[in-house]
Amino acid sequence: MAMHAFPGLSEEEASLIDEENRISQDILFRLGSSGLLGPYTGVESAREGLESVRMLARDSVGVASVVLINLSVQFLLYHVIDSTENDLVKLVLNRGVSAVSLTERGGGSDLARNITVRAEETGDGYCLNGEKIFTSNGLYADYFLVLALHGGEPSLFLTGDRSSIRVDPLDLSSFRGAGISRVLYKCAKAVRLGEIKALRTVLQAINLGRLGYTAIGIGIAEGALTDALNYAENRNAFGKSLIEFQGIQWMISDAYSRLETVKALYRQALEKLPNIDPIEAAVLKNEAAYIAQKAAWIDVEIHGGKGLELHSKPERLYRDSRALDIGEGAREVLKSYIASSVARNPSIITR
Ligand SMILES: Cc1cc2nc3c(=O)[nH]c(=O)nc-3n(C[C@H](O)[C@H](O)[C@H](O)COP(=O)(O)OP(=O)(O)OC[C@H]3O[C@@H](n4cnc5c(N)ncnc54)[C@H](O)[C@@H]3O)c2cc1C
Repeated sequence: MAMHAFPGLSEEEASLIDEENRISQDILFRLGSSGLLGPYTGVESAREGLESVRMLARDSVGVASVVLINLSVQFLLYHVIDSTENDLVKLVLNRGVSAVSLTERGGGSDLARNITVRAEETGDGYCLNGEKIFTSNGLYADYFLVLALHGGEPSLFLTGDRSSIRVDPLDLSSFRGAGISRVLYKCAKAVRLGEIKALRTVLQAINLGRLGYTAIGIGIAEGALTDALNYAENRNAFGKSLIEFQGIQWMISDAYSRLETVKALYRQALEKLPNIDPIEAAVLKNEAAYIAQKAAWIDVEIHGGKGLELHSKPERLYRDSRALDIGEGAREVLKSYIASSVARNPSIITR
């Protein structure tokens, strides 16, 4: 798999992104010029992109998320909606940063019942009005994919009308730098993306997002375990290095073993792209969130008091790992989905 030529981020850059909750123009430019912002139209490029997301998450979850969201929008437009003849879609596939605006204040889990953003026909297109929250990439985006009601039915719209879109970044403790924002659409000119079953399409996008969050979870676990091991080898207590204590060895061993099993299933899922098994995506997302949280906890623990220093790598990854249980579907919602899928088709237990 040919990887992107992104030179990576220094620890200082990653820490500053976390502190400022923003990615600099220079880093965005570097992401674009190394191909990390797309285009993600072929299956191989999507696999490569997800692998880059995994690697970026070892240092900066914010940067990894920016790449993932761009990949998700482009993959959706190209493989699922298949609307590449549209001029605005062509722009999204060729340059810039994109965002997906689905969640509203009423709640993200029960998405269908909480859509209040409306689209009205204007003669030469549509106009979007209303508010979305938790829009990742909102701070940097040129284009927004928006779930809105039209004639009482949910539909997907694409807008690049920045002058009619107000963006207020949210000050979250997790995924800092991911540009997660409240977005206000004030009669933003938009195109409707075909006569599609919007919610079904959204679910397909969410499945890719879940694979992406798996990549981020694995990346966090890899970054945290490497960091923990380095520290444990170099820090002494009671006359020997921390890694010589069995208690520390078992922490590393348990986390590494669990990480390897998640990675094996994740690699199988990558092979199946552009198809995604929704049950597999849900299982992977929950398991990757668990191992990311476990590894980040170990990294803080092994660093002792230093692990709690604000914006340090252990402390940052610890906070970042928490959101993996909420974004792209809360853990409990996914568990219910997995259980009902198994109950509907018990043969998947023995396949
Ligand atoms: C880091 C991050 C990035 C995000 N990026 C985006 C984005 O780019 N675009 C976008 O549109 N949205 C985005 N979101 C929003 C995300 O999709 C929602 O946060 C998520 O769907 C949960 O919705 P909610 O926060 O409104 O919680 P609610 O739906 O209010 O749920 C709150 C809690 O209730 C519990 N719960 C809910 N339903 C059930 C159930 N059926 N069974 C048991 N328990 C349940 C869960 O514990 C859940 O966490 C992002 C969120 C995060 C954290």
